[in-house]
Amino acid sequence: MSDRRYTRNDLKSELPDAHFIDGARHKAVGRETFPTIDPSTEETLTQIARGRDADIDLAVTAADRAMKGEWRDMTPAERGRLMFRLADALEAEAERFALLETLDVGKPVKESLGDVRGVCATIRYNAGAADKMEGSTIPLGPGFVDFTVLEPVGVTAHIVPWNYPLGMVARSVAPAFAAGCATVVKPAEQSPLTALAFAELCHKVGFPPGVVNVVAGYGEEAGAALVAHPMVRGITFTGSVATGRKIYMNAAQGLKPAVLELGGKNPMIVLDDADLERAAFDAIDGAFGNSGQVCSSSSRFLLQHSIAEEFLDRLAQNAKKLGVGPGLDNLDLGPLVSKEQYDKVQSYLAAGRSSGARVRLGGGRPPALDRGYFIAPTIIDRVDAGNVLAREEIFGPVAVAQLFDTIDEAKALANGLGYGLVSGVYSRDISRALTLARDLEAGSVWINGWFIGGVQAPTGGIKESGIGRERGLPGIRNYLSIKNVGIRL
Ligand code: ADP
Repeated sequence: MSDRRYTRNDLKSELPDAHFIDGARHKAVGRETFPTIDPSTEETLTQIARGRDADIDLAVTAADRAMKGEWRDMTPAERGRLMFRLADALEAEAERFALLETLDVGKPVKESLGDVRGVCATIRYNAGAADKMEGSTIPLGPGFVDFTVLEPVGVTAHIVPWNYPLGMVARSVAPAFAAGCATVVKPAEQSPLTALAFAELCHKVGFPPGVVNVVAGYGEEAGAALVAHPMVRGITFTGSVATGRKIYMNAAQGLKPAVLELGGKNPMIVLDDADLERAAFDAIDGAFGNSGQVCSSSSRFLLQHSIAEEFLDRLAQNAKKLGVGPGLDNLDLGPLVSKEQYDKVQSYLAAGRSSGARVRLGGGRPPALDRGYFIAPTIIDRVDAGNVLAREEIFGPVAVAQLFDTIDEAKALANGLGYGLVSGVYSRDISRALTLARDLEAGSVWINGWFIGGVQAPTGGIKESGIGRERGLPGIRNYLSIKNVGIRL
């Protein structure tokens, strides 16, 4: 992984600015555009096509045509081969995609490169599984044969957020391709560039027109129109709880299934027998990776009293070493994605300061950076359970610590919110950790590690953190419908 600095000139291609529909670039039907901003400089990178109902209708209609044409007749193994070609092509262009991502959302280039590699792995996993999704035979007894056929659900809608713009596109479209669906993607308005470039790449490697369509635009305009479109048969959304609720209600009108991966306020519970060096090391990526803009970040540290000071000291020592700067400078933390997000995090920090909590490190803009949406790595302790910092998803580089004495208190704190995405436990006693894990209300439990998993491991939330699972084979089943065929002999 290269730590070198980059400049804008390292991007040896133009910035995409048009929708990609039916195998071609399209200006917006209404000729409208919206700006996409470089959060490291606050400058406008380019104007992008702004989609509304008419653009969505073109894209969904193209996808529906694709579902009835060449795509439908390809064997699953052929689809898989096409996907392997796509992964190879993306790998060959990893730097271009990484630079586009960095310009659009500000993350250090080395992180963007890591994300692109993750996307290649995602595509390859799903490519390999394309011809392994099997139905079953059902024992109705003599006189009958009954079996199931797994069929693509049809045109699927993919509404993605801005924290991993390309990663989130791939996480949902790759399993949809494996299942044989045709897709319409609505990238976040903050980060449309890599999704648009990705659609072009799919076309270049031979995906039939209409299988991958990307319509850029705002959520209330393009996103809502996509969810409501009558030809859309399935919806996958990753984003905030509030938007997830709106999308679910919109989907319900059309009785469409929706997979929703929403927010989290994920507790990392550190018990008194934990390996503190390990925990404080993992906590750096857990709390500050991607500047804390991660649904599964370790956004609450629940610390057993006797080890709390030592853990926080170690965490602060590690956090002080992190470099903050423009994504192209390729340090450890880039800016937050937008002014809106920056203002939101600043208002949480102000609320924290006035609540009596202690800011142990950071607490605002790094003094050396006078433009860009930067927030320094921040550690806040003495936060009580009622504090907004302990209850709401901040989505910035802010580690929040709460203390407990007994395991029951830890459980009550961990489970006491509406969220249920990830909970983590650090303890050298695996029985103790697993006993606690059983009682944690979360879609994933991580023990003695953070961000454990990969494309093979299903992820998703319970409670207000979402519905359904992505990744792994369950991720592909989201896009398959079961047809039962019964035969009387
Ligand atoms: P945030 O609030 O963090 O910006 P959101 O959860 O609102 O994130 O956005 C995630 C994605 O959902 C984006 O692509 C956004 O445009 C889209 N979106 C927002 N509102 C709606 C909506 N009402 N219907 C469909 N998509 C939406």
